[in-house]
Amino acid sequence: MRDHRKITGRLVIATHNSGKLAEMRELLAPYGVEAVSAAELGLGEPEETGTTFQANARIKAVAAANATRLPAFADDSGLAVDALDGQPGIYSARWAGETKDFLAAMTKIERLLQERGAKDPAQRKAHFVSALCVAWPDGHIEEVEAHVNGSLVWPPRGTAGFGYDPAFLPNGHGRTFGEMTSIEKHGLPPLGLGLSHRAKAFVQLAEMCLDPQ
Ligand code: IMP
Repeated sequence: MRDHRKITGRLVIATHNSGKLAEMRELLAPYGVEAVSAAELGLGEPEETGTTFQANARIKAVAAANATRLPAFADDSGLAVDALDGQPGIYSARWAGETKDFLAAMTKIERLLQERGAKDPAQRKAHFVSALCVAWPDGHIEEVEAHVNGSLVWPPRGTAGFGYDPAFLPNGHGRTFGEMTSIEKHGLPPLGLGLSHRAKAFVQLAEMCLDPQ
């Protein structure tokens, strides 16, 4: 097995999303890594031209590492619906449009599922995907991808979380992500179950690239 490179010191978080930045700062704090945001450093956002989650995470991490000469972290995520051949996938954010109307995006998915006669949970399978990438200025890359499997419910339930959370029922649970607390959804053990795609991906990345203090 090849050696993974450890993240130490300062890490640029290549996101302009304050929620993601706060989540990463919290996750990285126990490892003595100082998270600086791309927005704080005045970096622009590269165009996400990749055709996979991993490719888009890599584009963002590499652009930030090259611009700052510091190691940089980026993520890309989305919802893939089996009966829709994996849509909306990398276009998950774009399906909600300029106004970020996720009820409209969930309604569109539901209409497409109805058109296909998908009524049973088995016909309504979906998974969230999280791809994480850390890029170093010398070109070294570390990357992971994780999923959480579930099915889509209609109507959406709960007001917690964001995006497609109210429509997503993780396998083995009776409540949607929209009905769970943030600790239940993405808290890491011992507080949470490490249930979400992002939590699972982060645990993998931490095992590879972070040393507890
Ligand atoms: P990005 O990773 O910032 O490109 O955004 C991906 C999009 O996927 C988000 O805008 C959400 O619509 C959706 N998404 C990703 N992760 C989650 C999640 O944990 N819950 C709900 N929606 C999510």
